[in-house]
Amino acid sequence: MSVELLGLNVDTFSFEEAVNRAKVLIDGRKVSQVVTINPEMFEAAQKDNDFAEIIKEADMVIPDGVGVKIALKLNGVNTERIPGIDFARRLLSEAAVNNIPVAIVGAKEKVIQKAVENLKNEINGLNIVYYHNGYFDNDNTIYEEINAKSPKLILVAMGSPRQEKFIYNAKKVLKPALMIGIGGSLDVWSGMVKRAPKIFQIMGLEWFYRTVTQPSRIKRIFPTLPVFLIKSITKRSL
Ligand code: UDP
Repeated sequence: MSVELLGLNVDTFSFEEAVNRAKVLIDGRKVSQVVTINPEMFEAAQKDNDFAEIIKEADMVIPDGVGVKIALKLNGVNTERIPGIDFARRLLSEAAVNNIPVAIVGAKEKVIQKAVENLKNEINGLNIVYYHNGYFDNDNTIYEEINAKSPKLILVAMGSPRQEKFIYNAKKVLKPALMIGIGGSLDVWSGMVKRAPKIFQIMGLEWFYRTVTQPSRIKRIFPTLPVFLIKSITKRSL
């Protein structure tokens, strides 16, 4: 099931349904793309047609962040919020249990090294066959290196829209796999950025905590969030 919001389709899966769908895509015969969408990405898609097309062609678009959940609610759709970081983490656990090879690309070298080390310690049996930092000029070299290791689950943490474009272009060159853009998740998994306390997460106020602790993010909330919510009730399409 999916609903249209500002010209883009958003899937309305529960967390468990989304995990099951992802497992089917991991076993599929093509490269599949999961987009974890937030209000800033809607804004970016309005200005960047290529980015909007990429989201439209994605195999799954899940509502990351409370802003999208509220916008859907204002349009009469009740749906579960699926934080990309929790979703990706769960897929890593599923991959470990089912012996699915994993690749991770993104973040600074120290960050990804530490994140990979932590993930291996925390998730028993996790098979990370390839990882690379997110600062490179030649995407084709990275695609070739990934292909040589044949991962089936590929997490890409380079921020938006860079990671979505990297995944989109990979569709033409990589062996079948499921690819997900996971934004700043490696920063959290490395331990270098702290996630909001559980109570903020449960109340959907993670964005508030992050803005107070990293005031440089204020630009990303104001005016983006209120503008996005107003548009979501006044405009039916882009
Ligand atoms: N990043 C990267 N390559 C780049 C730019 C950014 O790997 O060219 C990484 C950055 O180090 C960080 C991640 O992308 O780990 C996400 O950045 P940000 O928090 O800005 O993205 P968001 O999650 O808000 O989309």
